[in-house]
Amino acid sequence: MTILAMNLAAYCNGVSKLHGEVTRKMFHYLYQNIPVEEVPVFSVTNGIHTTTWLAKEIRDLFDSYLGHHWSADVSNKNIWEAIDKIPDEKIWSTHLDLKKKAINFVREILHNQKNRNQESAEEIRAIEEYLNPEAFTIGFARRFATYKRATLLMRDRERLARLFSDPERPIQIIFAGKAHPADRSGQELIKQIFDLSREEPFKGKIIFIENYDMNVARHLVQGVDMWLNTPRWPMEASGTSGMKAAANGVINCSVLDGWWPEATIGKTAFPLVRKLVIAVRKNRIGMMPTTCTQSLKIK
Ligand SMILES: *Cc1c(COP(=O)(O)O)cnc(C)c1O
Repeated sequence: MTILAMNLAAYCNGVSKLHGEVTRKMFHYLYQNIPVEEVPVFSVTNGIHTTTWLAKEIRDLFDSYLGHHWSADVSNKNIWEAIDKIPDEKIWSTHLDLKKKAINFVREILHNQKNRNQESAEEIRAIEEYLNPEAFTIGFARRFATYKRATLLMRDRERLARLFSDPERPIQIIFAGKAHPADRSGQELIKQIFDLSREEPFKGKIIFIENYDMNVARHLVQGVDMWLNTPRWPMEASGTSGMKAAANGVINCSVLDGWWPEATIGKTAFPLVRKLVIAVRKNRIGMMPTTCTQSLKIK
């Protein structure tokens, strides 16, 4: 079908620069008489509709400090200069509010989920203690296609247990996603995460929520501290969820795959993330592990 479509289409493009390159290599065999760079596949990098994914609280901040017209011209770099006028404390407190909101949202979903599965009253009561608003919170939500490697973090179980039991630097991770009904290995990944979420020391700290959709995505990309993306390079065509996180000032921790190489030349292109990280660096506000800020090459 792909070849049929390529032969019938007037124009053919990948969904990121890297994806264009990968696709030209993949289909070079159909155009053996020309160099690989000339295979007629171009690229148009996927994007997100910024205001759909932005938390209202962040939008209000932008409205106050960037001027009301910022959203009509989101790619205008000059407008983003004014990001430095937002006080660090204000960004941080907005982020913490969004984090609390996301945690409450996840608890509510878990409540419904466990009720539906007829779990014990004790199990359901325990949800109140799940997720710590003070802990560094990682989000991982997407389709559970195997190349996205949702369980990569779990390969070294002992190390994982150590990370999740550190009382000085508490961490937690929220997973959400679906696998295709015919994708047995994708479903197996979900089972692994689900089983782990019921074991100590991960209970209440590794969370899996069902029925991933835009509403779940919105709460997570707005309210976690770090968005995690670990696809097997170079298989991620674009992967837009990291854009949604970064627009909300959430750090995108990602393999250099899909759209991400285009955003990480020099310093990150997302002004709010840069601002948040600089604020943390100045040490006026706590709570962001330094390893995380160091990995971003930000002045
Ligand atoms: C953004 C989004 C995706 C795409 O996420 P990737 O990281 O590109 O896999 C998938 N599903 C939902 C509901 C989304 O909002």
